[in-house]
Amino acid sequence: MQSNLSHSIQRLEPLGRWLYDHSVEALWERDTRTLPRYLRQRRRAYRRFAQERIAPLALEADRSPEVYDPRPLLAEAGRRGFQSELLPWPLGRMPYRALLDGKVFAVILKAEEFCAACGGIGLSLLAHDLGMGPLLLAGHLPTILRWQWPINRANLRGDVRLVVYAITEPGAGSDMEESAGAARARYTTTARKVNGGYVLNGQKVFISGGAHCDYATVFAVLEREDGSPARVDTDYTCFIVERGREGFRAGRRERKLGQRACDASQLFLDDVFVPARNLVGTERSGWALNRNVLNYSRGPVGAIALGIARGAAESATRFARETRLNNKPLVAYQEVQLALAEMWIDVLAMRGLVWQSARHFLPQQGMAAASKAFCGELGFRVANRAMELMGDHGYLADQGAEKAMRDVRLNQIYEGTNQINYLAFVESFWESDLGPGDPARG
Ligand SMILES: Cc1cc2nc3c(=O)[nH]c(=O)nc-3n(C[C@H](O)[C@H](O)[C@H](O)COP(=O)(O)OP(=O)(O)OC[C@H]3O[C@@H](n4cnc5c(N)ncnc54)[C@H](O)[C@@H]3O)c2cc1C
Repeated sequence: MQSNLSHSIQRLEPLGRWLYDHSVEALWERDTRTLPRYLRQRRRAYRRFAQERIAPLALEADRSPEVYDPRPLLAEAGRRGFQSELLPWPLGRMPYRALLDGKVFAVILKAEEFCAACGGIGLSLLAHDLGMGPLLLAGHLPTILRWQWPINRANLRGDVRLVVYAITEPGAGSDMEESAGAARARYTTTARKVNGGYVLNGQKVFISGGAHCDYATVFAVLEREDGSPARVDTDYTCFIVERGREGFRAGRRERKLGQRACDASQLFLDDVFVPARNLVGTERSGWALNRNVLNYSRGPVGAIALGIARGAAESATRFARETRLNNKPLVAYQEVQLALAEMWIDVLAMRGLVWQSARHFLPQQGMAAASKAFCGELGFRVANRAMELMGDHGYLADQGAEKAMRDVRLNQIYEGTNQINYLAFVESFWESDLGPGDPARG
């Protein structure tokens, strides 16, 4: 396809040739090359791990999620430092350069690579970063030293410590993630201050990794001492709860459409006593903490959709190259080339936005919400197109596109539905860009 062009380029003046990028380089390499060295190395390491360790398990883990045990892979990822990237050495394995750069860049690279191999196994590894989020973002040094550091150290030894994030309740999902909803949220999980600590009661639902967790960062509404009604936005408080605590247990594991290798489970808290040292940060700071954890996690959730979509595009491309129609490879038909181009351009657009938002020094609400929602929508479109292109093969369970479509559908729902993320975007840019403005200013 390029032969006449290459010939013509040789006729350009040397400077003209130098200014013309006519290299033949895979899309993945081309993007990798734009990263600073420490992130290039990470991206390659994540991809190797995903191809060698995650991909071979993907189909079986999706088929029999109740049998799939995530702990061996959690141990291996932990030993490689992939489960402790929110703090630098000696507290964790965040690259030092990341202290000056975007804080979640390594995590978004990891999410794309892991989920290109399997959305479900990817989520079962990534849920830990979400669970650990409050321990760092509370900004409370004793919490970091008492909890985050020892958990990182154990994971680095391969001694699995899985932490999950628990906000959602049977009657409150979006309300726990959106400012207007928080004031009227129908919560059930409460904390009461007692001598030496707190007593937690309530129920959490749809907790990713809940069935296998060692700890949960649980958000509860702290009752007021004067007996007046407490609210999510003013009294929310985060606690770390260990698996072995009396009264704390996992319940039903949901049967779900996609990302099946990672369980979504109920967690019950029946008169669970936790000592004061289990308080994460300070009392009643949970609403801001929850919102900031979501700012840090929504970019990576966008990258999960990006990875799954890329996996679908790769499956469709492989199919188009290997399948013959009327003695011609499918990929030789122009309609197929158009479909592939649309898919891959969507993947590039998703990566563009996710990387752009991760390049900011700190994750920001509007940008994180934009990445999450945009990738949820485009990811589904890519997976759907991949199925379309593959025809009846696309509908088969072991060809990649069918699983990708099931997997990526979840990205429109969790971490706040896309509608809630659109509202977060508007809220974030209301004063600067979107609101009616100040009439006095004209
Ligand atoms: C597989 C899975 C894994 C999950 N993992 C976790 C986890 O690890 N930890 C955790 O805490 N939670 C988790 N969740 C919960 C998830 O974050 C919530 O399901 C999500 O926030 C949506 O809440 P909801 O299901 O209660 O929907 P609802 O709040 O009941 O929303 C129902 C519908 O109403 C719309 N809606 C609600 N409010 C508004 C509004 N103000 N304006 C416009 N539309 C609105 C929503 O967009 C949606 O379409 C998980 C969920 C799933 C399905």
